Amino acid sequence: MEPVEGLELTPRKVEYLKYLAERGGTARTTEMAAHFGVDPSTITKTIGELADAGYLLHTPYRGVTLTEEGKTYAEFLFKRHRILSLVFVRNGLTDEEACREVSRFESFISRNTIDTMCRAMGHPQQGICGAITHDDGCLSGRKHS
Ligand SMILES: [Zn+2]
Ligand SMILES: [Zn+2]
Repeated sequence: MEPVEGLELTPRKVEYLKYLAERGGTARTTEMAAHFGVDPSTITKTIGELADAGYLLHTPYRGVTLTEEGKTYAEFLFKRHRILSLVFVRNGLTDEEACREVSRFESFISRNTIDTMCRAMGHPQQGICGAITHDDGCLSGRKHS
């Protein structure tokens, strides 16, 4: 599933997808529950919703693996986080403050907005917490419906 609008996922699901991508795409649900400090039954429900949406595969008792769609979506999530963080750093926040502040609201910013900001910033290659990737959206100016 393409990150069409970029608004498909709740803040919690955004964190789960980023966590999985940072770990190479796989994790056990018990590890995720421990990492996020939530009950395993709660995380299983959310993971089921992400699996239904096509972002990951869930094998009971084994774990969770990102699909290609999930990896593509995670790329966008990192980009959004890093573009927004750069704006904050350029306006006086420390790297750490910027990452933390942006994590509070990033899931509410649309893909079109990020693409427009990326263009306006001249397609920065490096964010404060990792590289920024560019795709058709920010390079061509094509709008995502
Ligand atoms: Zn960051
Ligand atoms: Zn760009």
